[in-house]
Amino acid sequence: MADDEQFPSNNPAWRPATALVHGGVTRSDWGETSEALHLTQGFVYKSAEQAEARFKQEDPGFQYTRFGNPTISMFEDRLKIFEGAEECRATATGMAAVTASMLSYMRTGDHVVAARALFGSCRYIVETLCPRFGIEATLVDGKDLDAWRAAVRPNTKMFFFETPSNPALELVDIAAVCKIARDNGILTIVDNVFATPMLQRPLALGADIVVYSTTKHIDGQGRCLGGAVLGKSEFITKYVQEWVRQTGPSMSPFNAWVMLKGLETLPIRVKAQCETSAKIADLLAGLKGVTRVIYPGRADHPQAALAAKQMPGGGQMIAFEVEGGKQGAFRCLNALRLIRLSNNLGDAKSLVTHPATTTHFKLTPEQRSELGISDGMIRLSIGLEAVEDLADDLTNAVKRVTG
Ligand SMILES: *Cc1c(COP(=O)(O)O)cnc(C)c1O
Repeated sequence: MADDEQFPSNNPAWRPATALVHGGVTRSDWGETSEALHLTQGFVYKSAEQAEARFKQEDPGFQYTRFGNPTISMFEDRLKIFEGAEECRATATGMAAVTASMLSYMRTGDHVVAARALFGSCRYIVETLCPRFGIEATLVDGKDLDAWRAAVRPNTKMFFFETPSNPALELVDIAAVCKIARDNGILTIVDNVFATPMLQRPLALGADIVVYSTTKHIDGQGRCLGGAVLGKSEFITKYVQEWVRQTGPSMSPFNAWVMLKGLETLPIRVKAQCETSAKIADLLAGLKGVTRVIYPGRADHPQAALAAKQMPGGGQMIAFEVEGGKQGAFRCLNALRLIRLSNNLGDAKSLVTHPATTTHFKLTPEQRSELGISDGMIRLSIGLEAVEDLADDLTNAVKRVTG
């Protein structure tokens, strides 16, 4: 770490792409170019006195990887610098990040309000887990600002939503909902997975906490699970850090290393995927057999104006509906020869899923229709393939929708 002064690991003048390559680097005495993977559970002390000082937090350094680790710290620092957050804590998965940010802060008698269009496991945390611990929960239509206002109670402690939502790509007005929260002393958590940190800056729009499943676009190549919570130092150290240290949903140093390298290529991957997605969304809209295309970058998205205001790109996710309901969708999915069926997303490989029978099959038909999930809806996560090959595959598959 001898070159720290001459070569800082953070420079406020850096543009985003530079921060994602150089931000947070700490080098060992070997002076390695690429970030070191410190795959270790523990750390040794030079003396009993040093161990004592380390535990009293008088000596900087690490004690045990559940508490912290140099590779995990580099990942946290890089993401924090890029996001413009005061602090970041990495977690084992995206769900660990969501759980940590809610349960570390709320207690019995509190109340949480969440948009009902939530990733399945997030909905479980809010709807099922929180009430088991005496935390009341209200689900609202995230698009409806009056619904957020009406849901506020004296004991409301948190607002939680994702935008764009999974899978119907509905948007929530981040600035407007955060203002309602702030006016009432409520903290807002935004799940920013679908937009990625490249396309949406919730903290700048007034959010208090941003959570990621880094499993998705931050890894970007379908390898490791991971999560992150970002926000003010006070919130992160007082609540999230203590929760992660004591209850144990820490990120593996190996996964942190993969994510750290993933951040380096995030801007070029997201840019390429957005360009491909815009072309594929337009192609789908022109195909016979496709009845609807939902893409935040298209002028026919029901909230196109809001998309233009808070997302400088349409993203990498497309939802589309085909004729013939479930049968039509299954025919289309089974005819694909390049794009693979998987409920995952944010990979270099384009992936499709049929939400009604997979990620959202546990909801009642009424709940699905409330969320805009029809039996003919297909969710598509765009990867890094050549757009022409994706277009050919989809064109051929959609031809099979009607038999
Ligand atoms: C995948 C995902 C999660 C959960 O992340 P894991 O890493 O799978 O735990 C949460 N929210 C959204 C929007 C997701 O896409």
